[in-house]
Amino acid sequence: MRHAVCQFHRRIGLKARTHHTIPVISAKSIARIEKLDLPKSLLDTIKKEARVRHRKEALTVRYQLHDVSADFIFPDRWHREYADALADSVRRGGKHRAFLCYEPADDIELLGFFDIFILASYDFSSYKSKAEQSERTFSYIELDAGRIELLQKRLEVLSGVYAARDLVNTPSNDKYPEKFVQMLQSHEWTRTKLTILDRDELERQGFGLLLAVAAGSSKSPYVAIMERMIDPTLPTIAIAGKGVTFDTGGVQIKPEDMEDMKMDMGGAAAAIGAMMGLDALETLPWNVIVAVGLAENMPDGNAYRPNDIYRSYTGKTVEIDHTDAEGRLVLADVVGYLEANCAPKSIVSIATLTGACMRALGYEYAGIFGNDERIIQAMIDLSDETMEAYCRLPFDHRVLRACKGENADLRSLNRKYLTGPSIGAAFIASFVERARFTHMDIAGPAFRPEARGIFPKEGTGFGALSLYELLRRWV
Ligand SMILES: [Zn+2]
Repeated sequence: MRHAVCQFHRRIGLKARTHHTIPVISAKSIARIEKLDLPKSLLDTIKKEARVRHRKEALTVRYQLHDVSADFIFPDRWHREYADALADSVRRGGKHRAFLCYEPADDIELLGFFDIFILASYDFSSYKSKAEQSERTFSYIELDAGRIELLQKRLEVLSGVYAARDLVNTPSNDKYPEKFVQMLQSHEWTRTKLTILDRDELERQGFGLLLAVAAGSSKSPYVAIMERMIDPTLPTIAIAGKGVTFDTGGVQIKPEDMEDMKMDMGGAAAAIGAMMGLDALETLPWNVIVAVGLAENMPDGNAYRPNDIYRSYTGKTVEIDHTDAEGRLVLADVVGYLEANCAPKSIVSIATLTGACMRALGYEYAGIFGNDERIIQAMIDLSDETMEAYCRLPFDHRVLRACKGENADLRSLNRKYLTGPSIGAAFIASFVERARFTHMDIAGPAFRPEARGIFPKEGTGFGALSLYELLRRWV
């Protein structure tokens, strides 16, 4: 727990400032500022400040903003298309960046800017013996009390994104399923009910596929369930997250790219991050249940093998095609459990499921699949606002048919069928009978080789913000 979740508030603060704390800037910058269309009173203050202070720049932000220590100046009105440039500037700048801003046109602009500032300020340094955490403060001038409250509330949501990133970045020796569960238990949930199913319970209830995936590891699997039951008459939406805390590929061990595999619980992290944000809201338009399947995929004498056949939670049997296609097995049992126990109207699964999705869509887009048109469209529409982009990929009777097994009801993979990401989605969907279904494959954007825009290097928390926005509103 010390290393993950909830580090947020000590690193980012909100601070009221007066004109007197406007950062000091060089003569060159002043020349640049003079060309801006700033109110005269603000310009005079800046010049006065600049004379009395020397080279002691602080990161001070006021809206609308201009980065005065770099060669870039935003136009008069904020626009989403500047988001990446601003985020890169915030991240590069650290303490030594000066921003000048004037008033936001509306709350949407203010929050858009605030999100970028906070999300681009993230770093993961809790494992370093010397604290290297940069102090970053979002400072504001002349914001009214309503807007300050708005920002404070937004911090609760963004802290969920930070928590998702921390979870992904935490090394696997510190987040195997039992430790992962401890982190969830030590989080201070206000309105969310947390239930943990341990190995005995999973065996009793018949989570055959999840147990098969975990068989080669000395670490026991778990399922963690987080519930917000608002009103039994409201529809329920259920989210299933893949939480493979490390993925070696199993006995068909990965020939390459194993070094990133601490990220294979990115779907669980995103769902949990969203739930942390929702926990701060007094009510929701529907009941929300998040369940994450936690297991480690390791090779040893007890590990599951190709051609093994296992019985799933729902009773359907599955022939294992490849031991590295373990995420869909974990999710199959979790969605089966959710449908049987929670009667959801809609189920959403989120996972770092296939390398093929990453190769198809790169790091900027997640694949989205399914038959819940409203949710799929809502997620695509939210892309602009949350900066988490989704691209719809094929999902129909063809891919569903390709999951049919020869020796069992289903096979875990169909290598003759080339659309791997769609087969993954269809396999999970095969365990959902009544609910509408959406699957999101975040294999690319969950973990990046380098930072860009609001996304840091490595764990991005991708999915947490868009799921939060989806779940807090009715679609
Ligand atoms: Zn795998």
